[in-house]
Amino acid sequence: MADSIETKNEPLDFIREMVEEDKKTNLFGGRVVTRFPPEPNGYLHIGHAKAICLDFGVAQENGGVCHLRFDDTNPTKEDTEYEESIINDVRWLGFDFGEHLYYASDYFEKMYECAVELIRRGKAYICDLTAEQWDNEYRGDLSTPGKDSPGRSRSVEENLDLFRRMREGEFEDGAMVLRARIDMSSPNINMRDPVIYRIRHAHHFRHGDKWCIYPMYDFAHPLEDAFEGVTHSFCTLEFEIHRPLYDWVLDSLGYTFPNRPRQTEFSRLNLTATVMSKRKLLQLVKEHYVNGWDDPRMPTLSGMRRRGIPASAIRRLCRTVGVTKFDGITDVALLEHCIREELNATAPRFLAVLDPLKVTITNFPEGGVEPLEAVNNPEDPAAGSRKLAFTRELYIERADFMMEPPKGYFRLAPGREVRLRYGYFIKCEEVITDAAGEVVELRCTFDPATRGGNAPDARKVKGTIHWVSATESVPAEVRLYDRLFTAEEPGANGANFLEQLNPDSVKVIEGRLEPALALLPAGSTVQFERLGYFTVDPDTTLERPVFNRTVTLKDSWSKQNAKQGR
Ligand code: ATP
Ligand code: MG
Repeated sequence: MADSIETKNEPLDFIREMVEEDKKTNLFGGRVVTRFPPEPNGYLHIGHAKAICLDFGVAQENGGVCHLRFDDTNPTKEDTEYEESIINDVRWLGFDFGEHLYYASDYFEKMYECAVELIRRGKAYICDLTAEQWDNEYRGDLSTPGKDSPGRSRSVEENLDLFRRMREGEFEDGAMVLRARIDMSSPNINMRDPVIYRIRHAHHFRHGDKWCIYPMYDFAHPLEDAFEGVTHSFCTLEFEIHRPLYDWVLDSLGYTFPNRPRQTEFSRLNLTATVMSKRKLLQLVKEHYVNGWDDPRMPTLSGMRRRGIPASAIRRLCRTVGVTKFDGITDVALLEHCIREELNATAPRFLAVLDPLKVTITNFPEGGVEPLEAVNNPEDPAAGSRKLAFTRELYIERADFMMEPPKGYFRLAPGREVRLRYGYFIKCEEVITDAAGEVVELRCTFDPATRGGNAPDARKVKGTIHWVSATESVPAEVRLYDRLFTAEEPGANGANFLEQLNPDSVKVIEGRLEPALALLPAGSTVQFERLGYFTVDPDTTLERPVFNRTVTLKDSWSKQNAKQGR
């Protein structure tokens, strides 16, 4: 994978330093085993990409392995659709878990045995208080210690019997839970006899109705790590206060795990103008604010792929933000910068006109077609060249003409001359307007001596504009995507994130393309010169090409915001 090479000369982050040290001291026998543990209850987003790059990256750089493990311990929200998309997205991002694909639910029997072992050791008990009773009367809060559940004094025999009957389905959801017996006066509320098993009569997407009791994350996760021989378990900062429980579970069973895993927390990725909570993303999908999980405006990996964002740009972003202990928010403009950096190097260039204005070249013969030479990527000579058809009728971008040009406007205007990219100088001789005064056509002359873009008399023009032939181009649907939210931090300060959706997050227009563009397969990403990067959408057909705008060439958003004082 390219990334290990890409990261080689960069300073190590605190996690990589720690792993380095662990190898030196031969902790875990020098082994490095990590895991990425998504819950299959939604599609992966760019926040997950940060975790994936870290989990797989650290393993790769240290000759270790990284497991993809589905944390499928909550039967009510999980689904194979999510499972499949996650596998696909991890691979697309450029990481290989090889044969190391695991499911937490495959360990349910072993987890059950561990719970029984805790009961035998007097470290877990059945509690039949309701959730409300627990929260209001027993758990306590930061200033008050909790008090003992009546279940705390049950005998081991009774607990074993009740737990077995819980498993056998004798009780309703919520009738009782299994709690760890830890410390009801701990300042860490997570340590006040947390629930480790609950009853859920629900269908599990992999195990059907085999189980009606399900382990809680804090109990299941350390066991999953230990069963798999994971050495380094990375998770986001909100789990820091759960770490004592992670350790308690592993240390209370009386087993010696050959490589007792260790949890380390890092800060999550947050992006401006983006929501990253799976619950909110699910709501956007379910309530049709977007067209599915892979809508090109979504921060999901499938959405970003459809938007034309290369996996390398996402990895570049993750490398750039690095891994720290400090929570922060990354400007989405940095992601856009990473996308431009990657695509600038790789995307072939084409001409397309998105808001066409007709131009007639009055001194060019009717029906004539002259092939001009256009280079495919000025950044990459190996990308070769192609032919562009020059004809009597052309289209240029409406914004490239002004009736009364202000100072500093170097494009076309009455009496002015500009260069057509890869073509000739043209001069605007006449402007045709309709009854409403709107410009409908420009009548221009071209100078045959300027073929290729230079005048023999060293006459200069300041502007170069893009164009396509009116007769030798094809129409296409072009979807102009912009940010999904107008707010910098959607949902912050009590705002309803749905009220902060950008009403102009997509605009569908009909543009005109060089014909070669119509032949590109879905997923190809190109630059439309002077306009931005665009990718072929899966909705494309030969008759009706469909392109998505990935990103503009320059950051017009910040400029516009600065102007409006936002
Ligand atoms: P939820 O808990 O609401 O289901 P989640 O985003 O935590 O959402 P998981 O499937 O549990 O979903 O996440 C898998 C892994 O990805 C976890 O290790 C989690 O810490 C990590 N992760 C999730 N969101 C981010 C983020 N924004 N930045 C970095 N890592 C993240
Ligand atoms: Mg989670």
